Amino acid sequence: MTTQTMSYTVVNPASAQPVCDVALTGPDETDRIIERAHEVFPAWRDVAPGERARLLRRFATVVDDHVEELAELEVRNAGHTWSNARWEARNVRDVLNYYSAAPERMFGRQIPVAGGVDITVHEPLGVVGVIVPWNFPMPIAGWGLGPALAAGNTVVLKPAEVTPLTAIRLGELALEAGVPAGVLNVVPGKGSVVGERFVAHPLVRKVCFTGSTEVGKQIMAGCADQVKRVTLELGGKSANVVFADADLPTAAAAAPYAVFDNAGQDCCARSRILVERSAYDEFLGLLEPAVKALRVLDPADESSEMGPLISAAHKASVLTYLDDTEVAFTGSAPSGDGYWVPPTVVTPDSPRHRVWREEIFGPVVAVMAFDSEEDAIDLANDTEYGLSGSVYTRDLGRALRVSRGIQAGNISVNSHSSVRYWTPFGGYKQSGIGRELGPDAPNAFTEEKNIYFAQDL
Ligand code: NDP
Repeated sequence: MTTQTMSYTVVNPASAQPVCDVALTGPDETDRIIERAHEVFPAWRDVAPGERARLLRRFATVVDDHVEELAELEVRNAGHTWSNARWEARNVRDVLNYYSAAPERMFGRQIPVAGGVDITVHEPLGVVGVIVPWNFPMPIAGWGLGPALAAGNTVVLKPAEVTPLTAIRLGELALEAGVPAGVLNVVPGKGSVVGERFVAHPLVRKVCFTGSTEVGKQIMAGCADQVKRVTLELGGKSANVVFADADLPTAAAAAPYAVFDNAGQDCCARSRILVERSAYDEFLGLLEPAVKALRVLDPADESSEMGPLISAAHKASVLTYLDDTEVAFTGSAPSGDGYWVPPTVVTPDSPRHRVWREEIFGPVVAVMAFDSEEDAIDLANDTEYGLSGSVYTRDLGRALRVSRGIQAGNISVNSHSSVRYWTPFGGYKQSGIGRELGPDAPNAFTEEKNIYFAQDL
């Protein structure tokens, strides 16, 4: 049997220095782990709802006891700021706590029928494969594994090759909390190996994927072969629409955080700012000091608000977008080793420009003027993506019209927050399919079965 044959050297993106080596799982070992998850599935499914709830709450408590350790791993592995990394570890805790209420509430329905009784039940799928990207290793792992486990599935989870450390630790903490061995399996390795087995192996009944739209399409096509269930959370090019009647200083102060958080490596990043023409100059004038004030520092510094990009290759990809566009102004970034790009504001002259159209996934935001409410909605929707967006205005009717007009799954009015674990999250168009989080997430990891009882023999 082929076991772990290779390893990957994890690198600290703030310093470009190696952190440690992690063994990569090969295809045979991946299959063995999937088969073990399948073997333990019936026992996990049959754990009494109250006991499964108790185990998830215990898992949440153990995560809470290790927030500092998990955060420190993420600061070193992904270059996240301390405040983000602590939020991310606590988000895993909160997601586990939230979905620990689900096992006792997996309600079906009783539907009126003639001659008997009709009920529906939600049954877990079996083994669920969760494929996690490198931009938010902890939360995205939690959003998949929390509701999947709560609904009675077992989980195989693949972290991104470059950011495996927190997922590996979460797997250990689950065992420490008493979650039975084989129920949550963290499988570090390459997408083309481990991820591919999740898609191809018939015992994996659903794939929950977050990552690029390009790979998401391949996953969906692969899953089609077995009509395998799939949830996709993909890219974005979200609009931050600022009307002239908005509180402009507030909108301008918030805009950098709406796009430069996590160095712009965020599928919800509001990377296009649309400003009503009459307020355009004033807004840019307010945006410049806000961008320059952003504290772009080594994330080991507790006061850092923005860290480096994840890798040298990703930095090179981001910089290509700045070759042929008008840079209005930039913030600062440390010099020296590490994959640093300063927060950068560009003003393309056409909505055909690639900085306006493509997901850069870095600290680059494009600003453009619009002339009317209809124009703003058209411009916001002129993209293949539809994940999130913001609307800044004091006019409640306009806020509602524009929120309804934008084809995206998550809109914030006078705010840029997108993700709360107790509200649904997901994309329109090529930003994905299905929804994560919110009260209904466990149902997405079940089949709904209808049972009819005839009352007379
Ligand atoms: P990918 O889509 O390649 O990676 C996401 C996850 O999928 C990783 O765990 C990866 O594994 C895995 N994977 C890759 N190929 C396959 C495959 N054939 N079968 C199964 N799993 C696979 O994203 P990248 O890391 O390459 O990032 C590229 C771009 O994607 C970014 O610049 C950004 O634009 C976008 N992106 C969007 C994200 C989002 O949240 N919407 C998240 C990440 C990226 P491994 O890394 O080990 O190869």
